[in-house]
Amino acid sequence: MKFIYKSIVVLFLILPILFCKGTPTSPVDRGDTLLELTQTLETANFIFHYSPGDFVYAERSEAFHNWAISLLGVTCPKKIDYYKYKDREQQKRITGLTYTGWAISETFEAHSYLPWMNHECVHLYTSLFGRPSDFFNEGIAVALQTDPYNNDYEAREKSGERVHDLVRRYKDDGVLIPIDNILDASGFRSGDFTIAYPEAGSFVRYLIDTYGVNQLKTFFASSSYYDSVTEIKTKFQTAYGVSINVVEQNWLNFL
Ligand SMILES: [Zn+2]
Repeated sequence: MKFIYKSIVVLFLILPILFCKGTPTSPVDRGDTLLELTQTLETANFIFHYSPGDFVYAERSEAFHNWAISLLGVTCPKKIDYYKYKDREQQKRITGLTYTGWAISETFEAHSYLPWMNHECVHLYTSLFGRPSDFFNEGIAVALQTDPYNNDYEAREKSGERVHDLVRRYKDDGVLIPIDNILDASGFRSGDFTIAYPEAGSFVRYLIDTYGVNQLKTFFASSSYYDSVTEIKTKFQTAYGVSINVVEQNWLNFL
């Protein structure tokens, strides 16, 4: 009963806040998780939880953290609790989830089987100034998939390919999705994730590199997860002083 009650509360609280590849079928129980992730490493900005014999990339995580919070101009309320699973199998067994990673902004925690995770940490940082539709929320997380520890400030896919290069190929292949179709929550979720994620990332990276971060933060702050396409376009126009479809055309020309 306690678990069911907690499940419902957590699901309602974090439905729009759990990021990446949909909503889990059951929330994570921290007590069960920590039964296996018994090792703790505390650094300046993280508390890593992991299994005996496993490892995390603490310095790489710290380097990314410092670069990202400086770029975004945010101050974190607490250290990030980073739950690192040995592999996808352990993660699935403990949490029921097979995603590459997810973030929970209320408790400022990130979960993954990867030893560091720029993308999910970005979700925590940007939750401090707004939670727009997934096109922008996932877009900024992909846009900042960089690796400052290795002096690499390009947004890259896990394969190492530049996000812009991947999206340029999609454009050349004629499979890019008109952004009007993926701007709102339901549109993004019904799109092909292998296209929608990098497409949003490339677009938001173009926004950041062209206009800076402050207008994007203004847009985030004015937005909500359930905004309609019309509301998103109006809020974008207010923040940027230009239509998102004009920017879309400029971005396509840039690609
Ligand atoms: Zn994400």
